[in-house]
Amino acid sequence: MIAVANQKGGVGKTTTSVNIAAALSMNGQRVLVVDLDPQGNASTALATEHRGDVPDVYQVLVDDLPLADIVKQVPEMPGLYCAPATIDLAGAEIELVSLVAREARLRRAFSAYSAELDYIIIDCPPSLGLLTVNALVAADEVMIPIQCEYYALEGLGQLLRNVDLIKAHLNPTLRLSTIVLTMYDGRTRLASQVAEEVRAHFGETVLNTVIPRSVRLSEAPSYGQSVMTYDPGSSGAMAYMDAAREIAHRALV
Ligand code: ADP
Ligand code: MG
Repeated sequence: MIAVANQKGGVGKTTTSVNIAAALSMNGQRVLVVDLDPQGNASTALATEHRGDVPDVYQVLVDDLPLADIVKQVPEMPGLYCAPATIDLAGAEIELVSLVAREARLRRAFSAYSAELDYIIIDCPPSLGLLTVNALVAADEVMIPIQCEYYALEGLGQLLRNVDLIKAHLNPTLRLSTIVLTMYDGRTRLASQVAEEVRAHFGETVLNTVIPRSVRLSEAPSYGQSVMTYDPGSSGAMAYMDAAREIAHRALV
């Protein structure tokens, strides 16, 4: 189970969660994406209903609804599943505060969920609040997307401290397994400088595959598609296929 986290918004968490998941499923893996962002962008990108009164992650976290009751098969993507988020989830951050075992609600929901899956990918919201804490307590691994831009590393220290705290107190087996560089623009010196700096600091945790800036990646979600079905030949599709292969290979070694 992989939590895709970075408290900065717009760094590529959702794009990475959805496309890595889709790529893994196209390679024959069974993958569930858990949308843990009240904005529901991952649900939208996976063409999974998340408006009105559809049962969602909020009800799992706050009302103890079984996960099996909310998980949907993604249309035309065999092996790919989505646990959607509705706007209700925005209230969870506050409502969780007064609940018993508030940091472990998602972990508990998964312990009662027996679907056979190869990967569970949790798309976290852009904050370090209780929703992200729930993801980090449930997960085995953290994946951090880093945008190849100014201030790329700003705020990362805080996220890493949170990961360490959760490891120390709530989830001893959690590890930062993967950093993925996103929105790389090969024409700028800045992008290559950021990439170099991140690699110098985090070494092999950083995927060799770098995700380029590509409009196809930003267009695909409005068609409810991953970039691999929207435009399989695009640079973004090929990069996420490569990234997924690297991740699958890492899991084996
Ligand atoms: P987050 O989930 O971290 O907030 P998103 O994945 O939603 O970030 O990405 C933020 C915006 O940037 C979205 O509009 C998305 O379509 C776009 N985007 C993400 N990755 C790329 C990329 N590699 N190239 C071009 N646009 C991208
Ligand atoms: Mg997002």
